[in-house]
Amino acid sequence: MPDRTDRTAEIAERLRTDPRIVALVLGAPWRRVGPDVSRSGPVSAVGEGRADGRGRMYVGVPSPSELSELGLPTEVLRHFGLSPADLRAGGWTDTDLRSAGLTPPGAEPEPVEWFVAGEPPQLMLGLAPSGPPLLARPEPGAQAGGVDPVEVHRVPDVVGCTDPESDGMLLVRQIRDRLVRRARRRLAHCGVCLRQVLRTDPATGVCPDCAAEWLGVLP
Ligand SMILES: [Zn+2]
Repeated sequence: MPDRTDRTAEIAERLRTDPRIVALVLGAPWRRVGPDVSRSGPVSAVGEGRADGRGRMYVGVPSPSELSELGLPTEVLRHFGLSPADLRAGGWTDTDLRSAGLTPPGAEPEPVEWFVAGEPPQLMLGLAPSGPPLLARPEPGAQAGGVDPVEVHRVPDVVGCTDPESDGMLLVRQIRDRLVRRARRRLAHCGVCLRQVLRTDPATGVCPDCAAEWLGVLP
């Protein structure tokens, strides 16, 4: 069974803001996406570029210490167009790569913990161990009853937000509204429980829950 517990307060704490601000800016209540429906991202090929990369130099790519001397954040690394394997071969450590928001080759991507708001779900919020929070639109996932995030947006300014009317938050609200509008346009009507749902079976017009309960279809 999906976890229906309201996690808005927990999310607010993790975003270092107030639950009322989370509700105003993002929406509420938020609940966790079950572990069975979480999405696993693409995994980099193990050992990619490792053997033949030894001794290569990447002229013009500053090291983390050079970046900090220049007052530049490690994220500017993204702009050099080099893969994590290239950068690691060039002497970058996995910690450097992670602080640049890149996944070291062969490593599992850092798991984003996804939460959904609304019934049926109309908005997704992703919290990663490092990196900015994410907003996305839920789409029916590969697994029955599950959802996957699409149209993912980074919303770093939400962290520590104290003014829901600030320019940054107005931008976040625009993103939120666009995602919610698109999500609502895609809702379907279940012919049995009469609820709005993310997906109905094209043959029966019935949602996965009702199909399991009334038609004997396994979810
Ligand atoms: Zn139904």
